[in-house]
Amino acid sequence: MNVLVINAGSSSLKYQLYNMVTEEVLSKGRVERIGMDSSILTHEVDEKPEVREVSEILDHTTAIRKVLDMLTHREFGVLRNIKEIRAVGHRVVHGGESFSESVLVDKDVKLEIRQLFDLAPLHNPAHMMGIMAVETNLPDVPQVVVFDTAFHQTMPKNSYLYAIPTVLYRKHKIRRYGFHGTSCDYVSKRAAEFLGRPIKELNLIVCHIGNGASCTAVLGGKSFDTSMGMTPLEGLMMGTRSGDLDPAIVPYTLNKEELTLNEVNSMLNKHSGLLAVSGISSDMREVVQAMKEGNEQAKLAFEMYAYRIRKYIGAYAAAMNGVDAVIFTAGVGENSDVLRQAVCEGLTFFGIGLDHERNAVRSGEPRRISTDDSKVEVLVVPTNEELLIARDTYRLVLGEGK
Ligand code: AMP
Repeated sequence: MNVLVINAGSSSLKYQLYNMVTEEVLSKGRVERIGMDSSILTHEVDEKPEVREVSEILDHTTAIRKVLDMLTHREFGVLRNIKEIRAVGHRVVHGGESFSESVLVDKDVKLEIRQLFDLAPLHNPAHMMGIMAVETNLPDVPQVVVFDTAFHQTMPKNSYLYAIPTVLYRKHKIRRYGFHGTSCDYVSKRAAEFLGRPIKELNLIVCHIGNGASCTAVLGGKSFDTSMGMTPLEGLMMGTRSGDLDPAIVPYTLNKEELTLNEVNSMLNKHSGLLAVSGISSDMREVVQAMKEGNEQAKLAFEMYAYRIRKYIGAYAAAMNGVDAVIFTAGVGENSDVLRQAVCEGLTFFGIGLDHERNAVRSGEPRRISTDDSKVEVLVVPTNEELLIARDTYRLVLGEGK
């Protein structure tokens, strides 16, 4: 029983093929530059050299066909027949208030996702192109959609409403939705397994710190509050996003600089965060390197970045009236021991003790990095959104799995 997981962007498409009996990744790859000249398909199968093919791929339907050709290729493929793909699972960024869990794709679900285009104009239309492309190439294969926002639909009203006229919520659904939900869900369950405790009894804070970054308060396995808002711009300082700021800065900047609204939007999303403050890069590795070489702006950017995470951890510990474990995940959270140290050093007052040796260890497995006598556990739990998408797809299509 194989499940194909697709993450479709506007000009790219990533895929992973899972054997759901063993939960092994049989193959993975990506198509880049869809609709441009010289599109690139990269295909990987364990222990075989990576295949890279440059051709003209004008749309998502052709991209999926190329992926299917590659998966069944005599030399590079892993399947004898396309029929060995029993289901396809898609990552969808925005499920609005319509979806609080993963669902099988049907006519109504497609209509609903289309109605959410306004809330995620860069993402949802691209996901829909992926769904339609699979439908064209594999018309008899069931598809499932897994939403980044779904996990956060359990947030109480006092977490998700903005203190603005409620008519804006009623008319336009302006509220906080939160993102990284698939990752939070996966990571909190893994953390509970690791701690050997029922998730219902745990107060967790998940710090998903990657290129995009968020903190989530997970109370008894359910999202209680999260730092990203109506869009993924709110909350922590990120690679290129500003995170929290006084909304009055937008009209003030428009007034003072000769910028359009679109340009200010692009500034806050693409030219802010670590990149803007360090003046060097949005990549934490390069910022840390520059900081070690004595660059003052890089040091400031790093400190601001860590400080914001610390503030959110403090806020969520208060929001839940206590915390059992703080979990670091995603690119920066899993890999940067210096960042984890900078965050945790200021949290000794509520009983966090970081074990420096444990913190320095690198491994792809969940691990404890707090001291044995730390009142709050600190864990590093590698995220795996694709596996959760594959599991949900398997469960919804065959009624089996975790
Ligand atoms: P993600 O969005 O989860 O894929 O994370 C990507 C980000 O992880 C990159 O932009 C890097 O900044 C960061 N990253 C990856 N490896 C390291 C590392 N060893 N140290 C610090 N940051 C890292």
